[in-house]
This record gives sequence, C-alpha cells and structure tokens, in this order.
Amino acid sequence: MTVPFLALDAVSRRFDPRLTLGDRIAARLGATVEDRPVRAVTEVSLSIERGETLGLVGESGCGKSTLGRIAAGILAPSAGAVRIDGQPVLENGRKVTTRVQTVFQDPFASLDPRMRIGDIVAEGPIAHGLVTRAGAPDYVRGWLARVGLEPGFAERYPHQFSGGQRQRVAIARALAMQPDLLVCDEPVASLDVSIQAQIINLFLELRRDLGITCLFISHDLGVVRHICDRVAIMYLGRIVELGPTESIYRDPRHPYTRALLDSVPRLVLDDDALVEFNTITGEIPSPLAPPPGCSFHPRCPVAVEACRRDVPALLDDIADTRVACHVRAMEREA
Ligand code: SF4
Repeated sequence: MTVPFLALDAVSRRFDPRLTLGDRIAARLGATVEDRPVRAVTEVSLSIERGETLGLVGESGCGKSTLGRIAAGILAPSAGAVRIDGQPVLENGRKVTTRVQTVFQDPFASLDPRMRIGDIVAEGPIAHGLVTRAGAPDYVRGWLARVGLEPGFAERYPHQFSGGQRQRVAIARALAMQPDLLVCDEPVASLDVSIQAQIINLFLELRRDLGITCLFISHDLGVVRHICDRVAIMYLGRIVELGPTESIYRDPRHPYTRALLDSVPRLVLDDDALVEFNTITGEIPSPLAPPPGCSFHPRCPVAVEACRRDVPALLDDIADTRVACHVRAMEREA
C-alpha cells in the first residue's frame, strides 16, 4: 500500500471553554455553568499527494483554519494523527519536523516589526542548520529574488513594504526552510484584488518550479478553482465533499457545496456563464451545540428524516469524489 505524502487520520480538535471569573464564582456557589466544549474539527481524514494542491473551503467558522494549523503541526489534535511520508508531524503535542511551513493571511502580524527582512528570513534556516550565519546573506537574497523582491530589501524593515510585498516576504521565509508542504491560510484575503492576482501567479510559479505540495485554505471559490487540483468542502468541522476541482465545480453533489457555489456570482467561477446570485439560507450553527445527525440539515432544502438522526459518512461517489450525504447515497443506490 502506498503511503500518502500528507495524511490526516481521523483528526478531531475540541476546545474546552475558559470559564470567566463570574462563571467560576457562580460554579462555587453551586450554580450550573455551561462548559460545553467547542468541536472545531471532527474526525477528518484527508490525504495530499506529493506536488498536489488541495483547497480547503468553507464558510467562516467551519473549522478550516483549525484543521490547517493541525496539518502544519502548530496545533495538536485532540484525537487522530498527522503524518508526512508516514512520519508523525507532532510528538507529545510538539511539532517535530520543519517539512511543513505556513503562510498566514496577515503578513504584517506575522513579521516582527523590529527585525530586518534579512534576519526574519534567515532566522529559521540558521537555527535548523540549513545555512551558516556566514552564508545567510546570500541565501536570503536568493529567496527574496525567487519571490520577486529586490535582494537589497534584506536590509529593510516590514513597515517599509506594501501588503503584497510583505506577503512575498512571508512566502520567502517559509520557502527558506525548504519545506515539502506549505499550509497557506487565506494568503491573499487581506490584499487588493490586483495584488491578489500577483500573489496567486507567484504560487502557481512556485508550484511549477519547486514542486511544492500545498494545503490552500480559502473562502474564495474563484481563487481555489484557479489554484487547486482537488477541493475539500468543510461544514461545521467535517469534510462533506472531496474531489477533483473541476468535477466539484461543474457538478457538485453535496447540497451544501451546491449552495456554496450558487452563492457566488458565476462570472467568478465560470468565464462563459451569466451572473447568478442565490444565498444560502440560515446561519452556520454554533459548534457549541451542533445539530444532531447531518449538521447541515437545518439549512438543507432536501433533508429527510435520516438527516436529523444520523451523521452521514463520507463515501465514494463518482469521478474520484467522496460525499457525506444520506440523500446522495440513496440516489447512488437507486
Ligand atoms: Fe441535506 Fe441530509 Fe444530505 Fe445533510 S445528509 S446534506 S441534510 S440531504
């Protein structure tokens, strides 16, 4: 059996609420205080093959950033395992590999304003023995050039750059660690549209030239279609549909994926289609109190009785796609 490059195996993550001082006093006085955990991610199994870009898509609050942090080894799962080439990314809750690096949405927040760019990019590679201190300036200049920045920018500070340039610095810092996998969490969401296009093109170039494997987290379905080979659709902590990008965008089979794609102007998705706007009705439920059964059932236009009772399993569908939906399973069997 071949080992997937990145494997997430039944990964879950819950957050136990921190009680406020008032809650703690109330609890001591005998009052009942709600301390239900937040189930941010529930039993997610995913794999990414070497060189592949997998998009992770869903509404805000669906757990995609939490799952990305688990994949990157920044956050330990409450249950399940994350492996690269069969080796654990975390041991005893601590990251034990540099093979996964991250690029976050807000490059300004992730770059220390007191450090020069050259030191920011060199810090990790020196600490992990990828380059000597003496060799670091040339090493850094090479990575800055690779992401489209002047090598002389190494002497400057983060505040001297535009948002797009700062994101290039963040990408250079990640690449300088010579990772096999990049986890990119909304890397273009905070940028102007014209700058977004430049950064997306940079990702495409890096993927082509360096063969980087990528988990690309985004709420922007147009960007994901442009960049990703496969897409995983996430709803309230679970993957509900997973498959090749074109197949999912052309013929979504999960009612939530359909609703998500319908809520986007078709011009964003499809050059030859007309604009069309439908919104998903209802709000995403709270992960503090997820609905029983399929958590999409309060918003689903085709829900049946089983949906209110049983959690649907993610099962093989057609065209390499997997879908977690009772009604879709019935359609397949019919
Ligand atoms: Fe809708 Fe039921 Fe499918 Fe959930 S399992 S998406 S509620 S049809």
